Amino acid sequence: MKIAVCAKEVPDTTAEKRIDPDTGRLDRESGDKMLNEFDKYAVEQAIRLKEAGAAEEVVLVSMGPAKATDSLRQGLAMGADGLLLVSDDGLAGSDYLGTARALAKALEDVGAELVLFGAESTDGRGGVMAAAVGELMQRVWVTSANTLAVEGGNATVDRQTDEGVDTVTFALPAVVSVTKAINEPRYPSLKGIMGAKKKPQEVKGAGDLGIEGAGEAGAGTKVLGIETPPPRETGVKVKDEGDGAQQILDFLIEKKIL
Ligand SMILES: Cc1cc2nc3c(=O)[nH]c(=O)nc-3n(C[C@H](O)[C@H](O)[C@H](O)COP(=O)(O)OP(=O)(O)OC[C@H]3O[C@@H](n4cnc5c(N)ncnc54)[C@H](O)[C@@H]3O)c2cc1C
Repeated sequence: MKIAVCAKEVPDTTAEKRIDPDTGRLDRESGDKMLNEFDKYAVEQAIRLKEAGAAEEVVLVSMGPAKATDSLRQGLAMGADGLLLVSDDGLAGSDYLGTARALAKALEDVGAELVLFGAESTDGRGGVMAAAVGELMQRVWVTSANTLAVEGGNATVDRQTDEGVDTVTFALPAVVSVTKAINEPRYPSLKGIMGAKKKPQEVKGAGDLGIEGAGEAGAGTKVLGIETPPPRETGVKVKDEGDGAQQILDFLIEKKIL
């Protein structure tokens, strides 16, 4: 069995983000980049399934700029076998549906029985991609997996819900998004880091994969405006002259917190 893991390069989460005021898009060119933190859990789970003998191959699939291979290599260093990056100037400005269309075509090209996603990206934070891709591929899709086991053509997950945990069993092929509760991602070993560069890293354009309805032209949503949130007001300082507790109490009552 082949497992594909959708993984995304994102701006360093600790760095200041800049939105281009002309396009309304996040400036993804400047600053440090990294592999989306949530996606490491999906990569780790895929590698564990391979190590347990449930899969033969783990392939990373991504859409992003050509330089994204630098961040994706972290997934290869962890143990994934190769990657397919969809990179094309015509795909810039893709909205959620456009991105899902591009990833679905790339995943059809890879032909994996099991497709894994992280819970969300740390830049877009849509948390929608697994469901959107699952629908487009007309596959069973299951989100928020706290566990994932594969046996005899079926997968079983414990799914986090607002009320508790659902245990769901379904037949492959399927699309699954995983939570951070599923495992503890490994740190790449020195050998893994050294070997990552030599692993297959394919880059394909929109035309190679027959991607349509993506990019700015295919976007059904548009960013109409962006605003910086107002700076935080300075807080109230309470000087305790014997009535400190009362002052705090009055403040909380005034703010209707108590
Ligand atoms: C009008 C508009 C214009 C936009 N223009 C751009 C643009 O020019 N460039 C740009 O990069 N973004 C652009 N975006 C953002 C882009 O649409 C989203 O980043 C993308 O749809 C993924 O959504 P998300 O990041 O919220 O992913 P989520 O749904 O939060 O991610 C869930 C999981 O999906 C997977 N995933 C998400 N994105 C990718 C990816 N690209 N490759 C592989 N796996 C992935 C990961 O496993 C991730 O953990 C635009 C959005 C809008 C609304």
